[in-house]
Amino acid sequence: MSAKNLDSLDKIVSLSKARGFIYQSSEIYGGLSAVYDYGPLGVELKRNIEELWWKSMTQVHDNIVGIDAAIFMHPKVWEASGHVDGFNDPMIDDKQSKKRYRADMIIEEHILKLREKGKEDKADELQQELDTTGTREGLCEDLHEIIMREEIRAPESGAFDWTEVRQFNLMFKTHYGATSSNDEDAIYLRPETAQGIFVNYKNVMDTARVQVPFGIAQIGKAFRNEVVARQFVFRMREFEQMEMQYFVEPETDGESYDEWLEKRLEWHKEIGIREENLRVADHPEDKLAHYARSAADIEYHYPIGWQEVEGIHNRTDFDLGRHQEYSGKKMEYYDQKEQKRYIPYVIETSVGLDRTTLMVLCDAYREEEVDGDSRTVLKLHPKLAPTKVGIFPLVKKPELKKVARKIEENLKQDFTVRYDESGSIGKRYRRQDEAGTPFCVTVDFDGLDDDTVTIRYRDDMKQERVKVDQLETVIRNRMKSWKPE
Ligand code: ATP
Repeated sequence: MSAKNLDSLDKIVSLSKARGFIYQSSEIYGGLSAVYDYGPLGVELKRNIEELWWKSMTQVHDNIVGIDAAIFMHPKVWEASGHVDGFNDPMIDDKQSKKRYRADMIIEEHILKLREKGKEDKADELQQELDTTGTREGLCEDLHEIIMREEIRAPESGAFDWTEVRQFNLMFKTHYGATSSNDEDAIYLRPETAQGIFVNYKNVMDTARVQVPFGIAQIGKAFRNEVVARQFVFRMREFEQMEMQYFVEPETDGESYDEWLEKRLEWHKEIGIREENLRVADHPEDKLAHYARSAADIEYHYPIGWQEVEGIHNRTDFDLGRHQEYSGKKMEYYDQKEQKRYIPYVIETSVGLDRTTLMVLCDAYREEEVDGDSRTVLKLHPKLAPTKVGIFPLVKKPELKKVARKIEENLKQDFTVRYDESGSIGKRYRRQDEAGTPFCVTVDFDGLDDDTVTIRYRDDMKQERVKVDQLETVIRNRMKSWKPE
């Protein structure tokens, strides 16, 4: 048997549509760009990922509690967080194609091309200039100057016909209340879930009887008016984040940051991602966000290259300090043992649920040649698989159907199962392979005499005879011992 890994994102896009994992939003109207809907298999997969993450935070750690904050928040929150003034990307438009690009990315790509041509010195010089943009005439002016001087052309049209560089705020704005229409009542769709945690930090401390160090976990929607949003669910305008903010004593932040980085990397392996497709990329000091002391990305090797799936950030006391300043409410923690007050530092782990789902699909995807035939299979961790067990009568005969339905009735108390009697048995196996179903159970005539069925394993396609009353144990054991290959 020969196996091939995923080589292009398009294959996942088509499989997602064909099997019901992910669809384009509002497709019958031509689609809404960078917004996607999850289908019947996708929603199960996403929920399984969410559940594992939630357990890894709140069930495993007795000092981490959860919340579910609203998407709408007081507008002052976004002033305090720095998003109103600082959540901007510098954009430039190609006048010929009317396409908009991130100005710094256009320069990054140009530098990459110079390196490919072996012009390392020139590339280093430009990189140095890019790293110090904003220190000469201003961010937009400095970027524009480089693009003009280097005569960088638009990637798609090849034209050299640019507008000025402008800042573009990524927050979606709407109006709040039935009579409101002016800008003073503007309210934002949250661009990150973290602020819902910071503004509730006091409430949680007062009601959940937690002591520093402690964490607050949350899963929820976030919205960003991304300008470059063309990579399926990798970059969306409406997406979901799973974030945990861990509140620690200043001075212990470095140690805690290292611990969380390690724990989070481990989690990605636990959900079945192959180790060689994961890596950690530290943010160099000069590229850190304004609030961060240190930061690193956990990156996955997507078909579009190594890209961030999760960020681990040491946010210091920046956020709580700013909320204290803007709200006038004390954000300090009183350490009774040490008899001292301080604003805790925050270590944040922030992972995109959609990017994780995409990573899981990409990592599981295989095309295999089996005895001159080919199959597409998703070798998902059984814990994540949308359907755990496919149940088939070998042929559509009442006595086989009856037993198969009974097995379905029993197993569905503990697992998501799918009864299927249509098509050849080979076709039914292939359908479940593409859906990532790890176990298929087939009822045949021989088994009617001795209460046995055939269980077929997705990954190696091996088949075993098993007593019907042993099915649940066999499935459970296999799920526990599963390893990615
Ligand atoms: P990027 O540099 O890729 O834009 P970011 O550094 O802005 O990401 P964070 O603000 O750190 O991302 O957000 C934390 C996580 O949320 C990211 O690691 C990613 O998984 C997810 N995320 C951020 N923006 C998007 C988006 N537009 N679509 C899908 N997921 C996103």
